[in-house]
Amino acid sequence: MKIGILTIGNELISGRTADTNSSFIARKINQQGWRVEAIMSVGDDFEAIENRLNYLLPLTDAIICTGGLGPTADDITSAAIAQAFELPLYTDENVLNYIKEIFTKYNLRWIENNAKQAMFPQGAEIIANPVGTAAGFVLNIKGKLIFVIPGVPAETIRMMTEGVLPVLRRCFPQNEQYSAKQTIKTFGLSEAAVDDSLKDIDFNALDVSIGFYPVFPENHLVIISRRKTLVEAQRKLKLAQDEITKRLEKYIFHYGEETLEEIVATLLIERKMTLAVAESCTGGLISNRLTDVAGSSAFFERGIVTYSNAAKIKLLGVPVDVIEKYGAVSEETARLMAEGVRKLSGTDLGLSSTGIAGPTGGSPDKPVGTIYLALSDSTQTLCRHYAFRWDRKRNKHVFSEAALMMLKDYCETQISKTK
Ligand code: ATP
Ligand code: MG
Repeated sequence: MKIGILTIGNELISGRTADTNSSFIARKINQQGWRVEAIMSVGDDFEAIENRLNYLLPLTDAIICTGGLGPTADDITSAAIAQAFELPLYTDENVLNYIKEIFTKYNLRWIENNAKQAMFPQGAEIIANPVGTAAGFVLNIKGKLIFVIPGVPAETIRMMTEGVLPVLRRCFPQNEQYSAKQTIKTFGLSEAAVDDSLKDIDFNALDVSIGFYPVFPENHLVIISRRKTLVEAQRKLKLAQDEITKRLEKYIFHYGEETLEEIVATLLIERKMTLAVAESCTGGLISNRLTDVAGSSAFFERGIVTYSNAAKIKLLGVPVDVIEKYGAVSEETARLMAEGVRKLSGTDLGLSSTGIAGPTGGSPDKPVGTIYLALSDSTQTLCRHYAFRWDRKRNKHVFSEAALMMLKDYCETQISKTK
């Protein structure tokens, strides 16, 4: 089943209002396993509304319109639709009485304009509005459905969920009612490379749909399987997941919705380990991400931003001559920072970052995007070194990602202290 979305309002095409209704509606439609053929926005204009409806109608089974149902002169959606399909407008007495009751209840002065909100194209089936005066409606035009609901986002949400979806489900029953969904999170490959690695998989033949969602610096894949039974949906999903895993195994860090910081937090808490962080070029971002997780105080002891050489020397005890000999951005400094912050804090682990976010400060052997990360426990200090290639902001973000990934890998190789 294919759906068209048409949002109506001058404020949408002038850019004053961001069109949040269409993204909400599109999400709802996709969740049902239906397809959105197109999303269009148009001003409060008779000819433009008619044009877009005539464009969408042959391409779709149903069109969902929002906006322009108010009482003011610029709200013309009902009249425009009536004109487009050569239908007369009629007044629905029930809706008119309902609106009048609301006016009486709230002691509002009745203006005759308000009667406009009770006028609908002939043949319309009314969709009640539980949160406002503007009722919606649905019209059947040669077997295709045209829904019209108000544009106020809170009203769109309620009427989409309680009015539009039940009618769509009734008119277009699905044989494949059960769905299974899996999110696969990858890091280390570009979106194009992920796509390329999977190009020999025939997802249609596997009866699943696949979506690519870049969430910098990660790339997420979402597999959805829709079948007649839940067991069958899950079986198909698993087959597709196994095919993806075969090709991307090295880059997959998680199956599920949790964020990297949440995964790390869970691992540290399970292992009853505490952490202190000393950051240079990431400026507190690693600490910020870890403390975004509710309950982080169970493992996060402190985060220090030692940005200058003086701070690294004074607070973390990195010897001056190490910095002079190897530089602040070096494996040696990173290791001493991690060890320093661990000892200073009395934690199980110390994590450090030192690198060059850019745009300046790079050199041929340490270009912009260079990062050294170190992780120290009571028996060893590990170090990782990468050269990324982004701008300053994204470099900082990808540095923090690599740091969290290092923590995750470390935890996964440790035997849980609780066992
Ligand atoms: P009502 O009569 O209940 O106010 P309406 O159908 O007349 O509904 P509009 O007058 O078109 O709605 O819009 C009402 C409010 O909703 C405005 O503030 C408008 O900016 C906002 N709005 C309209 N369409 C959208 C949309 N697609 N996305 C987000 N906001 C919207
Ligand atoms: Mg409007």
